[in-house]
Amino acid sequence: MEEVLIVGAGFAGATTARCLADAGHPVRVIDRRPHLAGNAFDLPDAAGVLIHQYGPHIFHTNSEKVFTWLSRFTAWRDYEHRVLAQVDGQLLPIPINRTTINRLYGLDLDEAGVTAFLEKVREPREPLKTSEDVVLNSVGRDLCDKFFRGYTRKQWGLDLSELSAGVAARIPTRSNDDDRYFTDRFQAMPQDGYTRMFERMLDHPRIRVELGIDFEALRDTAPRRFTVYTGPIDAYFGHRFGPLPYRSLRFEHEHLPATAQVQTVGTVNFPNQHAYTRITEFKHLTGQAHPGTSVVREYPCADGDPYYPIPRPDNEALFKRYEALAEVEPDVHFIGRLAQYRYYNMDQVVAAALSLAERLAGLYPAPSAP
Ligand code: FAD
Repeated sequence: MEEVLIVGAGFAGATTARCLADAGHPVRVIDRRPHLAGNAFDLPDAAGVLIHQYGPHIFHTNSEKVFTWLSRFTAWRDYEHRVLAQVDGQLLPIPINRTTINRLYGLDLDEAGVTAFLEKVREPREPLKTSEDVVLNSVGRDLCDKFFRGYTRKQWGLDLSELSAGVAARIPTRSNDDDRYFTDRFQAMPQDGYTRMFERMLDHPRIRVELGIDFEALRDTAPRRFTVYTGPIDAYFGHRFGPLPYRSLRFEHEHLPATAQVQTVGTVNFPNQHAYTRITEFKHLTGQAHPGTSVVREYPCADGDPYYPIPRPDNEALFKRYEALAEVEPDVHFIGRLAQYRYYNMDQVVAAALSLAERLAGLYPAPSAP
């Protein structure tokens, strides 16, 4: 009986694999890395603190469907992420809120006062084409330069004015005191970590998993009914139109023994100092009790693993050329952040994979009854 081949054991691959197996398909999942969970992979470090190897992953969603589906494989720990930014010698809430404005400028504004303040300092722009347009239009030049310009330059290696509007449109500004980084309905971390959740997702009699195997090693030989590909779309097509540009990150992990806590919130951003963008302390995210603590610093860089698609119109146009090839590739289905060249949050990838699996179940009847 021919298997479905799934390339990649991250959220896209594992969700599709489990749905297809539940529907009666035998499934083979491969990943070139030696572990499950893709970029959400977590593990205890040498001191026993649970860390996220590829940077902090905070789960949040407004989709009840996604949250309920994942809840089959994990219990949750409630967690609302909070971030402070080091600006002008102070640690201030980001997204910018009433506290940020009052403490930065030594004011005592109420909500209406903050709204009026922002109205006074903003630089109205029309149309909003770049991220600089979006930020200036909403908070004006001083807040833009203090909180966003330096961070963006480090993160993307580009000025705000060189980035599509969509990047900055993700960041809200608040006139109230809400200092949560996300406002989604469901905000929680998998109780036993992401990797454990993936182990349960892929623990199914119709799923076999092989790690440390690259698709290229078996693309011409593996018998399969159809393929779900979650790797980079340009690599699948031999980079024939040239590589899709990505921004990468170098992660510097550190364990601090006999230190219960080093910062008051999960993440501190450094928009204007250091080569790294932010420091995350994992125990805030996981709630783990441990006499020491572990942190990660993120250094953005041009070369390395592909992490963030660079959102510029020319890159989107290049992706569209690959997408046109993907649409006519017989019996191969492309999904996930690398195959769709999109910055997707985890919940968006799960939602897309659940929809794809439903579509595939209609296209390819299962060989055995579930
Ligand atoms: P991946 O997790 O990248 O999985 C793809 C898998 O395919 C990888 O394991 C890879 O090894 C494998 N693969 C690729 N090519 C091949 C090949 N040729 N052969 C075999 N295997 C292959 N999202 C949130 O919701 N909240 C967050 O807080 C958050 N933080 C993030 C922080 C960072 C630093 C980054 C980079 C991303 C963050 N994300 C976050 C996004 C999140 O990582 C993605 O949404 C999620 O990982 C996407 O899952 P995926 O399966 O599409 O991709």
